[in-house]
Amino acid sequence: MAWTERQRAMLARMGVWAPPRSAPGAPPGPAGAGGAAGEPAEADARRPLEAAPAQAPVAAAAATAVTASMAADRSAVAMLEWPALRAAVAACRACGLCESRTQTVFGVGHPEADWMIVGEAPGEQEDRKGEPFVGPAGQLLDAMLRALGLSRADSGPPAERAYIANTLKCRPPRNRNPAPEEMEKCEPFLVRQIELVQPRIILAMGRFAVQALLRSTDAIGKLRGRVHRYQGVPLVVTYHPAYLLRNLPDKAKAWEDLCLAASVAERRQGSAA
Ligand code: URA
Repeated sequence: MAWTERQRAMLARMGVWAPPRSAPGAPPGPAGAGGAAGEPAEADARRPLEAAPAQAPVAAAAATAVTASMAADRSAVAMLEWPALRAAVAACRACGLCESRTQTVFGVGHPEADWMIVGEAPGEQEDRKGEPFVGPAGQLLDAMLRALGLSRADSGPPAERAYIANTLKCRPPRNRNPAPEEMEKCEPFLVRQIELVQPRIILAMGRFAVQALLRSTDAIGKLRGRVHRYQGVPLVVTYHPAYLLRNLPDKAKAWEDLCLAASVAERRQGSAA
């Protein structure tokens, strides 16, 4: 879908880059105007996605105003492709976490990965490095993914890749829990990441990921062990890796959850073949 003049004008007003209308190879627009994606398209029907750019094309001077208003404007975020989305996150000042962060933590992985992993929020090491799950919890997550033949690499076969993102893109001070208003402000970014990746399976790790995606405050123990849906995409709930580091016996349950997710992903791959 081509961007309408109105959409272009809105993004331009916000100072957000939009591909020129006639640019060859310009990325296509969103799947639907301002709405979340439905059942994801099958592999061969996926939209071509750009790799995340090194440099985000947003005018530095405009960035603050841009994203303050964008975070409030879900429909504007819902139109962004990867480069502009990354830039919008980097410049976001929609909540107080921007005051204490070292940098934003956007997400990592293959832009068309079959798996989407959603965690809570960056910790100290993530805040320093700008990448999700790089501390001890991240090492456990990587080991779990490896055991399933998955990695966070940004290229390679999508079936063997996971895209990893958090509900919050900035570290809460002293790793406190995310506040409801912070989650609300940050949510459009995660929603858009999921729309762009179009995963076959989402793994929601921990209660804040569950709250954001399923709107449920039920305990993980109550929600795990079955397949939920987020905008048509199968979603499996499991324990957060940081919790597992403190509660080793629950690792076996987490492994069961990952196996459940893997069986769903394989089934969906099979039905796309
Ligand atoms: N915990 C999370 O939920 N996310 C991270 O990126 C790191 C720790």
